[in-house]
Amino acid sequence: MKYALLDRGDQLSRALSEEFHTLAKARGFTVNESSPDIVVSIGGDGTLLQAYQRFKDQLANVSFVGIHTGHLGFYADWKKDELTELLDLMASSTPQKVQYPLLQVEISTSSGRTVYLALNEFTLKSVDGTLVAALHINDEPFEMFRGDGIVISTPTGSTGYNKSLGGAILHPSLEALQIAEIASINNRVYRTLGSSMILPKHHHCDIVPDPEKKLYIGIDHLVLQMSGVSSITCRVAESKITFARYRPYPFWNRVREAFIGGSM
Ligand code: NAP
Repeated sequence: MKYALLDRGDQLSRALSEEFHTLAKARGFTVNESSPDIVVSIGGDGTLLQAYQRFKDQLANVSFVGIHTGHLGFYADWKKDELTELLDLMASSTPQKVQYPLLQVEISTSSGRTVYLALNEFTLKSVDGTLVAALHINDEPFEMFRGDGIVISTPTGSTGYNKSLGGAILHPSLEALQIAEIASINNRVYRTLGSSMILPKHHHCDIVPDPEKKLYIGIDHLVLQMSGVSSITCRVAESKITFARYRPYPFWNRVREAFIGGSM
């Protein structure tokens, strides 16, 4: 098995990386940073987002495995004291491949069109003051948004920024995207829906901002500032991210353990 490994860089994650390499070598695995079969992330969800960014052009060929060194991660199945168990299973069993939807974001400017694939979400804010942008759903005008910003998340990203905005948590077997508002202005002049909306795979939405405004654009943990944006189209991507699951870990158990904790 060829694997690549990315860690968060803190002392514990670095020590676990060393341990992982030792255990992997003993089982005949080889390090391959350019075309691995498995990408191992040691750290938090933020580390997995970085690992995804690094290998997003090889999604058809790689599977991800997460080991968390902080609180329970949404993208991580394994704890720091379970490395030997994980490596033994990696050496002896075929994992279940679990696929999660991604968000395709097409940003059009006067100089062309750029496509991004987000694992968690796309975030739009204005660099200077209030964001003003028209929202269209399936090419029909829906609302004129005024406020701090808009977050469009994937099902697995629904437990991230989207959750802080009061959005729903979506099971990742649902191929959908969720639009959530950040502090919209609602009064007799300006009006938005106010609730978050969930669009199915065959729907899309367009955001049309003022092209004169400088925008803050977030794709997961990456932040860009762009001017001259004429439109942004979001839809569920055709490609998906694959996780190698060496033991079952139901999504709702993750949600309960991360946000509720303890026993009832
Ligand atoms: P960060 O600001 O250092 O960390 C943000 C927190 O979000 C971390 O605790 C991270 O977990 C957690 N997180 C990331 N993805 C998650 C997911 N799918 N479900 C539940 N929690 C998740 O930034 P970062 O580590 O680079 O992560 C970027 C992400 O931060 C964005 O994609 C966005 O979802 C989230 N974010 C949240 C808010 C908010 O809630 N107000 C604001 C901005 C961004 P770990 O500690 O395990 O890494």
